[in-house]
Amino acid sequence: MNNKRNMDTLSEQTDEPPKQMTDDMRGSARCRRLSQRASSVGESATLAVAAEMKRMQAQGINVVSFSTGEPDFPTPAIIKRAGIAAIEQNRTYYTQSEGIPELRRAVAAKFTRDNGMPTDPSQVLISAGGKHSLFNALMAIVGEGDEVILQAPYWTSYPELVRLAEGRPVILRTTPGQRYKITPERLRDAITPRTRAVMLNSPSNPSGVMYTPEELGALAEVIAAAGIYVISDELYEKIIYGQIPHFSIGSLPELRDLAITVNGVSKAFSMTGWRIGYMRGPEDVIAAAARIQSQMTSNPTSISQYAALSALTEITDEVDAMVAAFGRRRELIAGLISEIPDLSFPYPDGSFYLFVDVHAYFCDRAPDDVALAQYLLREHHVATVPGSAFGDADAIRLSYACSEKDIVEGTARIRKGLAMLRE
Ligand code: PLP
Repeated sequence: MNNKRNMDTLSEQTDEPPKQMTDDMRGSARCRRLSQRASSVGESATLAVAAEMKRMQAQGINVVSFSTGEPDFPTPAIIKRAGIAAIEQNRTYYTQSEGIPELRRAVAAKFTRDNGMPTDPSQVLISAGGKHSLFNALMAIVGEGDEVILQAPYWTSYPELVRLAEGRPVILRTTPGQRYKITPERLRDAITPRTRAVMLNSPSNPSGVMYTPEELGALAEVIAAAGIYVISDELYEKIIYGQIPHFSIGSLPELRDLAITVNGVSKAFSMTGWRIGYMRGPEDVIAAAARIQSQMTSNPTSISQYAALSALTEITDEVDAMVAAFGRRRELIAGLISEIPDLSFPYPDGSFYLFVDVHAYFCDRAPDDVALAQYLLREHHVATVPGSAFGDADAIRLSYACSEKDIVEGTARIRKGLAMLRE
């Protein structure tokens, strides 16, 4: 049997691997079993840390978690009741694939009211979470080899989502001294004839930093002049602490045909498990994304859509109370971490993360961010996320979506663990 035959048959019959395969043949055979796309996509790094932490907790170890990416509050009762009512009223059938009209109208009204973007419901697509909305947006506008500009640190899924759409992430590194922001000049320099889009995330996961309206205005000029899309991820819009107002870059008239705004109910209403996100954009982009969604998932869960409708139309005080609690925790954790020598971080404007530069502690026992996070988890029982998951290996991310008691205990463990590295 010649080599070619061996490889051809591997994908057809799988009982036994062909004999006498060389390593090269094995490599190409693997490639043939999986698509290039599947082979190039990595596992979510944040979920990997969470898995190790859960294993330790299952063994009865008391781990303080700064690794969670979701609010620790229950979904407000009104929203839960709306979900239960949807089930009881048999709203359990397929819906319009782009979302129920009531919810599209509510989202359009929200963009019009909160974000200064007059919006028709036809410009809105409801999807199964903000991540799904980002994916739909990229699938609608990015083709093979198209470049998408990201800034590091970035939300961990961005480069993988771009690769899934067969695009090429182009990453602009930023430093704590720049408050992890790009300038119009850097953006302009990164744009090539292959550039399709730039992704922005304000407030940011992982740094909590926000762009000011003026900074976004200056970036918008570059985006409009180049005629590229901007995908603005505004998932943390509601979790801000007052220094900088939230501003939607898509509200600028020059970006009317170029801005895609992504948001959702996960973070704002503590609804991560319900899986509802939404996007707003030019009608042709929304229509294309809706076609893609209709072939992939049909509609987002009917029950969750009714719950999200309640969130957007009935909730007020609960969000304010949640944000006030996050605000107190932000001050507490920022104060305690800044007492530890040689750590630095930009004071966050929003979201519920602190992105802490820890490179001063790299040493033989913890030579990089992953080793340091593992050391803190395994030996000091405090879970953090290594910065390389976000494209910046000098830092670790601490989520303060946990109790004040955990913040006090967890930061004490970090302080002790880091001090021991220097003994
Ligand atoms: N964008 C950012 C910046 C996020 O942090 C997250 C979730 O962690 C998402 C999007 C996805 O949100 P969802 O849970 O609605 O898919």
